[in-house]
Amino acid sequence: MTRRVAASIVVAAVWGFAAWWLWRSSLPAYHLPHLDETALFPPGALHRAQHFGRVERLFWVARTIAKLVVLGLFARYGVRFSRESAAGPIGTGMLLGMLGFALVWAAQLPFDVLDVWWRHRYGLSGSYVQATIGNWFALGAEFVFLCGALAIVMGLARRVGDRWWLPAAPCFVGLTLLFAFIGPWLLGGKPYHADVRNLERLEHVRNIPVRVLDGFDEPNAFATGLGPSRRVFLWRPIIEPPFTPRQDRFVLAHELGHQAHDHIWKSVGWYALFAFPLAFLIALAARRRGGMRRAEAVPLAVFVLVVLQLVELPLQNVITRHMEAEADWSALRATHDPVAGRQLFRLLATQTLDDPSPPWWDYVFLENHPTLLQRIEMTRYYATSAAQSP
Ligand SMILES: [Zn+2]
Repeated sequence: MTRRVAASIVVAAVWGFAAWWLWRSSLPAYHLPHLDETALFPPGALHRAQHFGRVERLFWVARTIAKLVVLGLFARYGVRFSRESAAGPIGTGMLLGMLGFALVWAAQLPFDVLDVWWRHRYGLSGSYVQATIGNWFALGAEFVFLCGALAIVMGLARRVGDRWWLPAAPCFVGLTLLFAFIGPWLLGGKPYHADVRNLERLEHVRNIPVRVLDGFDEPNAFATGLGPSRRVFLWRPIIEPPFTPRQDRFVLAHELGHQAHDHIWKSVGWYALFAFPLAFLIALAARRRGGMRRAEAVPLAVFVLVVLQLVELPLQNVITRHMEAEADWSALRATHDPVAGRQLFRLLATQTLDDPSPPWWDYVFLENHPTLLQRIEMTRYYATSAAQSP
């Protein structure tokens, strides 16, 4: 027993050290000044964003409850379906996984349709076809991923027993690395012609192609890829009016900041830190149904996975908000243009109807970026700290 306790302490210490190492950043120890949102945003725009966000949040709560209830019932009664299948344990496990997937899709469907209706009321994009059958590619990819994941887990459980999580977690980390590496090449996009070399120099990064993606109705941008596949992608609307070249320069500096601070590598690192305990807890829960070698364990495993993902969501958001704040700080230092940043974040509130300061529980569960108000406060903090430094 003492050996087990000692081993647990060592594992916890290694986890803690890795988390500390991944958390380190170039952010100063900062205190955001408190700004008044009613003075920053036009009253009409603020009211619109708040009203839109209130209902959007309710949809999220409804979808989450629907998913938990359906998967909870499936975990309880789904076993019945496995007895009638002759596909072998892994084949039956995959069938059960797909059945759970289909049930969740059906339970969330009404809210997805309502959500499109709500977005249309506010002049935002959204298609009923997309909301119902989704885009076929994404749906197909999720199916393939689910089946692949179940095949890996059940295959390992049949070979090594209840310790399957030890080899399975590295498998999933490896797959995540692979997708992060090849993903950018699959996205395509058109070259972006504005001068980015100057910004690259300021951000201390080199040779990161910037691509523009068509077919999106919202202003957005993201950085992705590892090593030679590193890219920055801009959704077309963000490089078109009302966004200005000066604001786009800030956006680009933010995305290059993600690359400069190795945020894609760090995200994979965090994924690994969560993958091990998550897989361990699923293995523990699955034992109640004879372990993951048996198809009967699949409905319970899927339910436990979804519950754990919900539990870790606040922590994941703390981590991504930290990286986003670092990318904003990086952009401020590279551009020395807090005014462009402030204009950009104000404009985003009217263009995307993102609530500048949502309620606390929304912040905890749903905000993977600092709020628009916090991001503006950061530009103010930069402006005052830059003015004070010699
Ligand atoms: Zn970002």
